[in-house]
Amino acid sequence: MAKYQYQTEVGQLLHLMTHSLYSNTDIFLRELISNANDALDKFNYLHLTNEKFKEEKWEPKIVIKIDKEDNSLSVIDNGIGMNEQDLIENLGTIAKSGTKAFLEQLQKNKEQKIDSNLIGQFGVGFYSVFMVSNHVEVITKKAGEEKAYKFVSDGSGEFEVNEVIKESHGTVVYIKLKDDAKEYLEPFKIREIVKKYSNHIPYKIYMKYQEETTKDGKTQKEEKSELINDATALWTLPKSQIKEKEYIEFYKTTWGDFEEPLTWIHTIAEGSIEYKTLFYIPKKAPFDIFRADFTPGVKLYIKRTFITDKEKELLPLYLRFVRGIIDSEDLPLNVSREILQENKILANIKQASIKKILNTIKKLPKEKFDIFVNEYNKLIKEGIYTDHLNKELLLEIVRYKTTAHNDYTSLDEYIEREKEKKDRKKEIYYIIGENEDVLRNSPLLESFKKNDLEVLLMTDKELDEVVTPSIGEYKGWKLVDISLNEAPLNEEEKKELEKLESEYSALVTKFKDILGENVKDVKVTNRLVESPSCVVPNNSDPMASMRHLFIQMGQEPKIEYILELNAKSDLIKKLKNIKDEKILEESAWVLLDSARIAEGLEPIKRDKFSKIVTSLLSKAL
Ligand code: ADP
Repeated sequence: MAKYQYQTEVGQLLHLMTHSLYSNTDIFLRELISNANDALDKFNYLHLTNEKFKEEKWEPKIVIKIDKEDNSLSVIDNGIGMNEQDLIENLGTIAKSGTKAFLEQLQKNKEQKIDSNLIGQFGVGFYSVFMVSNHVEVITKKAGEEKAYKFVSDGSGEFEVNEVIKESHGTVVYIKLKDDAKEYLEPFKIREIVKKYSNHIPYKIYMKYQEETTKDGKTQKEEKSELINDATALWTLPKSQIKEKEYIEFYKTTWGDFEEPLTWIHTIAEGSIEYKTLFYIPKKAPFDIFRADFTPGVKLYIKRTFITDKEKELLPLYLRFVRGIIDSEDLPLNVSREILQENKILANIKQASIKKILNTIKKLPKEKFDIFVNEYNKLIKEGIYTDHLNKELLLEIVRYKTTAHNDYTSLDEYIEREKEKKDRKKEIYYIIGENEDVLRNSPLLESFKKNDLEVLLMTDKELDEVVTPSIGEYKGWKLVDISLNEAPLNEEEKKELEKLESEYSALVTKFKDILGENVKDVKVTNRLVESPSCVVPNNSDPMASMRHLFIQMGQEPKIEYILELNAKSDLIKKLKNIKDEKILEESAWVLLDSARIAEGLEPIKRDKFSKIVTSLLSKAL
């Protein structure tokens, strides 16, 4: 007999599962059937491809056995099974990434009901059985191996694994039901749960139970066996035969989500290549999509036989939130990983699938589309950068905040609003920063506001810095970073600026002398309305558009900045007439360094900055 300690995280999870009131305990059965389904998938593949197993007469099935006298329920499959090491690794530890984060979230609602959506997102799977039981045994034998093992646990800190005798490969999960879980001894209850959650998995589910019959005044017990699901492999059915509810339950069972999907896309392609695909978009982004070790969501089948769910690029990486099945009629069953990656048929299916998925997203009704944007906008941006074939389509989907209103806008809506304006250049203006509020108050927007020009506010800074310059043009409209370019001027404004330039030429020359090498240039500008000064990178510097990235990494990019003075601000107006050299010098530094600080840059006179400000202040008072 060997006793083991659960990994700490599992212990915590079990504690939470058994001590929290959980609203829907039915799902333990769905989780166990889902595991049995996966085990059958895996053996099915071996059976078809591996010489060792080809001869075996095998009929895949799941049996749910009710034993009223014993107060127990067993879920039995003849799938791949587990060996000793599998048992310890799979049931004694949580291999999945992000478990810690999950547990922290759970700890927060400790006293409350566990949020079922949270569990769904993280998939606690097997452990949900401890909601209905204090004694669970898993008796299992791995296909192709001699020994069988039994795992026993009461859902507390320890479990046991012992060697036992079992004839054939597969797994029995034996569940002694808690007193308040006796409802699962009723055949109608099991029938109902299986119909609801697992009707369309590809394997048959039987229920075995005893029925009491009365004959000539004597009660007898009769053993019954009943097929309780349709076992159709939902994705292979014609669309017209599938109800909405069935699509939803199939999704929930197969991907362990507790929430309905946002939408799904079912395709049965006949013609030069034959395949079936069924894709779902979850309502909530899977918790690990921004982790390098995310779990892939698409399963590959060949002629209804499961091949793999480990392949990360059946769809492009930016669509890693999509859950689904690709089932091809034209691939050989013994396809290897290398072949998978280079296979032309799969590449075709992939391209067709991307188009279908993106077009479906594009046409989502407003309410659903908004949910999509909140969850997945960043991934669409990733796509714009990486998927050149579908760039146009992705640019129709992506959304940005805007100065026109408080919601998101599409590029098409931007163009629609702006194109009617008089003398409007075909340019889409944008500004990138970390925070929407800061951006909305940026001095760089002042002249755009004044001229009634809409500007997009991009707040996924790291991503936008890289992605947006790569867009170039959209439907003939050029994307222009306003921090690199001045607002376009009308004739009147041009004249006005020329006038200001000559008026201020003495002050500008003076400032250039004072600031020397620390600025690329000094200019009077029309881009500011309220602020007295700003710094802008010299836009002929190729590094300029990447500068936010460097600043964020704590590095000062070697970019030359231009100091711009707002000729309309009172301060600058007054400065024009100041003769006192000391005041001019101090003002030049304050105007440069405070503008640098506003841009997130180091002030040049870091050590003297406050001294200079104080000195100026005392003169003013
Ligand atoms: P998940 O199914 O989400 O991976 P579970 O906790 O439900 O998480 O199961 C953990 C692992 O235990 C599974 O991934 C699988 O490898 C193994 N397992 C569970 N049930 C079975 C079964 N009936 N047959 C074979 N392996 C199983």
